Amino acid sequence: MPSETPLQYVKGVGPRLAENLRKLQLFQLSDFLYFFPRTYDDRRQLPRLIHLNLGEIQSCVGTVQLIQEQKIKTGMTLTKAVIFDSSTHIVALWFNQPYVKKNLVPGTVVWIKGKVEKNRYTSETELSVIDYECADPAHAADTLSIGKVVPIYPLTFGVTQYKMRIIAKDALAKCLPEVRDPLPTALMHQHHLIDLKKALLAMHLPTERASFLEARKRLVFDEFFYFQLTLAQKRLKWHNQAQAPLLNTEGPFISRYVDALPYTLTSAQKQVIAQIYQDVQSPHAMNRLIQGDVGSGKTEVAIAALLCAIESGKKGAFMAPTEILAQQHALKLQAQLSPLGIECVLIKGKQSPRQRAQALAALQNENPHIVVGTHALIEDPVIIPQLGLVVVDEQHKFGVVQRSKLQQKGQSPHCLYLTATPIPRSFMLTCFGDLDKSIMNEIPPGRVPPVTHFAPETRLNAVYLHCESELKKGHQVYIVYPLVEESEKLDLKSAQEGHLFLKTTVFSKFEVGLLHGKMKPKEKKDTMSAFKENAFQVLVSTTVIEVGIDVPNATVMIIMHAERFGLAQLHQLRGRIGRSTLPSTCFLISPKTLTKNNPRIQAMLSTTDGFKIAEYDLKIRGPGDMLGTRQAGLPEFKLADLVRDESILLSARKAAFGVIREDPALKKPENKGVKGALEKSKGTVEGKLN
Ligand code: ADP
Ligand code: MG
Repeated sequence: MPSETPLQYVKGVGPRLAENLRKLQLFQLSDFLYFFPRTYDDRRQLPRLIHLNLGEIQSCVGTVQLIQEQKIKTGMTLTKAVIFDSSTHIVALWFNQPYVKKNLVPGTVVWIKGKVEKNRYTSETELSVIDYECADPAHAADTLSIGKVVPIYPLTFGVTQYKMRIIAKDALAKCLPEVRDPLPTALMHQHHLIDLKKALLAMHLPTERASFLEARKRLVFDEFFYFQLTLAQKRLKWHNQAQAPLLNTEGPFISRYVDALPYTLTSAQKQVIAQIYQDVQSPHAMNRLIQGDVGSGKTEVAIAALLCAIESGKKGAFMAPTEILAQQHALKLQAQLSPLGIECVLIKGKQSPRQRAQALAALQNENPHIVVGTHALIEDPVIIPQLGLVVVDEQHKFGVVQRSKLQQKGQSPHCLYLTATPIPRSFMLTCFGDLDKSIMNEIPPGRVPPVTHFAPETRLNAVYLHCESELKKGHQVYIVYPLVEESEKLDLKSAQEGHLFLKTTVFSKFEVGLLHGKMKPKEKKDTMSAFKENAFQVLVSTTVIEVGIDVPNATVMIIMHAERFGLAQLHQLRGRIGRSTLPSTCFLISPKTLTKNNPRIQAMLSTTDGFKIAEYDLKIRGPGDMLGTRQAGLPEFKLADLVRDESILLSARKAAFGVIREDPALKKPENKGVKGALEKSKGTVEGKLN
């Protein structure tokens, strides 16, 4: 029977079962090869019946001697079986499972698992069965349930564990002989990998822990390897094909800009700018990601990069993840660049076609321009003439997919991505493995990191007292309420209510503003500018202020219901303070004292280092969630775990980049297998990338 045989034609399956198996993505026999057990049950050394421990949940094996069914008072059926081995006998009990009697005829060898107890009246050992499997007579000689490490598969309606095991075993017997290992032998030796066939067999039927670990390592390597191969190829393609204009890195705009800065650049900023200048002076388009914690001054670096486009008579574009941030960047750029004669044009998502057309028309002349906007810049058919360089701020909100879109705008500008979400290395190499990277791990001098406290709601008064003393010094305060999408209305009300309450009571002597996502863009913008200009001192807000907002005079951040925020979000929010030489304080407020043990709050109290926060976040949330798998363009690996398997990832990456360096088109005979396997994997991974 060929391995592509649809499952319904497989003996023992049939159309009904085949339909159920489809829900598990099992369509043909060979699909079982990569349908891995979710766990294993070691049934090699089960206790003899006489050694069962009262009060524990245990499993054991015995032969059915006698089985009977009785009705009990409540209308339920009770099935009782006497099970024996050479040491003694026990009584197994099933409640309300009438079909058990049919399955377990006397003489059947059965594996049972359940709670061991002593019958009060008869003093016999009893086991209330949670799970059982009988050794199928057809497989009696080579039992699938007893005396070995047994695979436990994911199940779906209408399939038992035992049945699944039979089908999987048959599938392996038929399909494994056809498996050809695509990896070159040298590569396998170099990375200490076992053969694919052996690995697949051991994943399903491991004989011991070591063989399972070896098998898993090989298969995790494969998952990473093919993904890294596509990244390596993508990067090469980008380097070879993306011809971008050479940009000037010297000239009047740049020197006047640097001279006008009220501070000197940090050495991290200088270093990254130097890297960017090298990139834009090569004919390959720059494709660089800057990772820098909140407040490290990425915007200045971005402006220095954009000015290269201007020096070369081209336009620059600056993309932000939210409208409010785009506004703010536009304001900042305008303030710094209009004295140099550079115009900033804001392109918004919600502009009328006429406004949009006007904004675009303004770009047509030869004047120096920088376009600032939201995602609208990539999503819409916006064509910016003579685009030399694009900056994408808060890159973690964009994914591999959007990046590809940007590169495919047919203009191949130089691209610079900024992210304040520190990304652990394993993520970095997976999501952003095709980019060059710079790290800015330096905060401008004189900054004092915020001090963070946890306080239960009952102690809010003390917190407000602290605010008052800061306000009296002329400083400003943020108070953030959570906004969760599902219950947006409810939470919005809490920010509004909080605003009303605080304004009329605690902070009645000060001006208190309100900012939330439901406000019109213009209202939001006006509120932000007013806060920045200190027209009011307290800003009650939802998470709209999460990214990028920059008001150095704010020294207190109160986060209500801190337990409801994600760790990255808390860190971003806290990043709104500590932006000057003033000492600052962040208060995490929760309704219950208990939540101080919340791991996210603990992490916030223990560090202000964004990279450490990211590592915690990865541990707490697990890889899938951290960046939002789909959003970040992260492939969904079957086995690989970005936290646990970082070392395998590193060797897979090294192997993949090595192969592509030696043989970019995979034309060498020893890479024939790899090429085939890569093409097969394209449906899943490459599909997302292109
Ligand atoms: P982020 O990296 O979070 O985007 P920003 O670019 O918003 O940080 O910068 C944070 C603040 O630090 C801004 O007020 C900015 O003007 C200021 N800043 C940037 N570079 C320096 C520097 N070298 N020295 C002092 N302050 C700086
Ligand atoms: Mg920023």
